Amino acid sequence: MALREVRIYGDPILAKECKPVKEMTPRIRELIGDMFETMYELEGCGLAAPQVGILRQLCVIDTSDEEHEDQRFVLINPEIIELSGEQTGSEGCLSLPGKHGTVTRAQHVKVRALDENMEPFELEADDLLARCIQHECDHLHGHFYTEKVEGELLDNEEPEEEGEESEEGEMEE
Ligand code: ZN
Repeated sequence: MALREVRIYGDPILAKECKPVKEMTPRIRELIGDMFETMYELEGCGLAAPQVGILRQLCVIDTSDEEHEDQRFVLINPEIIELSGEQTGSEGCLSLPGKHGTVTRAQHVKVRALDENMEPFELEADDLLARCIQHECDHLHGHFYTEKVEGELLDNEEPEEEGEESEEGEMEE
């Protein structure tokens, strides 16, 4: 596995529509591994293929924490089939380091996708995972969270000591 270069906001590739993944290949498998590695290195909780320059409908997500132990997913060709409720919170993106903004999204989401073995599955999510799924799916269709930011984009504060994060935490995708 290897780290991939993350495209920065303003790169035209981030505004493009991604094509579906037709079949699993060694290259795509490698891409998935690299995307997880890159996301963990940058301490994000989601990363979409166009963010590493690949225009395919593929994203990786890991919103696991002490409360939610198993929230690591590969979503291939994801399709959001249900959205309900509302949550307003802080959101950031690995393609726009050092910034965050307030974004309102659906509280609950149901998504249909293929996993890394190209097996179909459905996933229902709330809270941070639901936010993350919506953010990543937006990337696959050329959308960026700044389109949805309410008010100003803000500068991130210097990293705080461990354990001092607010209840909702910061999200970087
Ligand atoms: Zn993002």
